[in-house]
Amino acid sequence: MSWVNVPAESNFPLENLPYGVFSTASEPQHRIGVAIGDHILDLSKIAHLFDGPLLSEHQAVFQQSSLNGLMSLPRACWIEARHTISSLLSRSNSRLRDNTEMRSKCMVVQAEATMHLPAKIGDYTDFYSSVDHATNVGIMFRGKENALMPNWKYIPVGYHGRASSVVVSGTPIRRPNGQTRPVDTEPPKFGACRLMDFELEMAFFVGGVTPSLGHPIDMKNVEEHIFGMVVMNDWSARDIQKWEYVPLGPFLAKNLGTSISPWVVSMEALKPFAVDNYLQDPAPFQYLQHNDKYTFDVKLSVAIQPEGGQPTTVCESNMKYLYWTMKQQLVHHSITGCNMNPGDLLASGTISGPEPTSFGSMLELSWRGTKPIKLNDGTERKFLQDGDTVIMEGVCVGNGIRIGFGSVSGKLLPALPL
Ligand code: CA
Repeated sequence: MSWVNVPAESNFPLENLPYGVFSTASEPQHRIGVAIGDHILDLSKIAHLFDGPLLSEHQAVFQQSSLNGLMSLPRACWIEARHTISSLLSRSNSRLRDNTEMRSKCMVVQAEATMHLPAKIGDYTDFYSSVDHATNVGIMFRGKENALMPNWKYIPVGYHGRASSVVVSGTPIRRPNGQTRPVDTEPPKFGACRLMDFELEMAFFVGGVTPSLGHPIDMKNVEEHIFGMVVMNDWSARDIQKWEYVPLGPFLAKNLGTSISPWVVSMEALKPFAVDNYLQDPAPFQYLQHNDKYTFDVKLSVAIQPEGGQPTTVCESNMKYLYWTMKQQLVHHSITGCNMNPGDLLASGTISGPEPTSFGSMLELSWRGTKPIKLNDGTERKFLQDGDTVIMEGVCVGNGIRIGFGSVSGKLLPALPL
């Protein structure tokens, strides 16, 4: 298929072609690349080869240090870019294949590259779109009768998050200090978070020529504004969250670091893995309705690796468990006329499935600390321990194709001494 060798179990065959931003020791400036097998195609070196009818005027976006320029172009440009890259890498195309000099400039070994945030994220929003997660948390905090709040099946519930603390995979995360109230009948305390957690999520980047303030994105053309997806760990301080969230919702429990995988998988690459949307009952309001499949069969996993030890898989979930689609999230977000910008990051919320092994947070896996999870080394976890590395992966497999997201990982560092 490609003249680049792609190992059988690679996340990055010719059908994937995810975008990322990377640098190397010899060339420290950040630049845009596409993953293919164990290599990166450095687009900054071949910008002049994007000579199709739409992109020939926009070659400069491939020489930027982030994906924001490419994201800002209309979706038709993204599709042309994908065709051009796919063609340049295919075995039947001699343009790069036989140009030894250019190949030596534009092919980088992934193991020798450092990955960076793919885009300058102007705004970050986190939804709460998994019915199993919302139900589990509701049961724990309000009981079975009132598990789902009355608004949940009408509104894709979400909150405005903190863009400055979104980091790329590999960045260590510091256990925060903060206010908590461990015992409901006693005064609150200040100190290191004791209930540190992960949240297994996916997120998408907004793109395209977005409407200005006062003009919603319509369901008819919302697809023009969804650029691609990453896997995300929304690190969460549960005890801080519990004390602070009334009445305005998440704040400091969620701004201590949010990790994303470095490769942005395009919606075009995910299309073969579209599955039926979650059956919504009651039917959502008209402005949130769409009939096309916009739910994807992405297998997700979470592993915990203790300091110096081996990883243990603690959760296996799937993006298809989400109740609200990304189209509904984006349309709802902008229905007030809220202006969205290319590079904005919109996350799914914790993706839990119906089975206890598919719960996407320690809060649910250990059922609020009542059922400790056993790791392969014999130790137990109710929540995360200092030195633990959390590794999340996402992959689509089927019809002989493997479209991988790669992983998002981060090591939990001890809290700063007070
Ligand atoms: Ca979250």
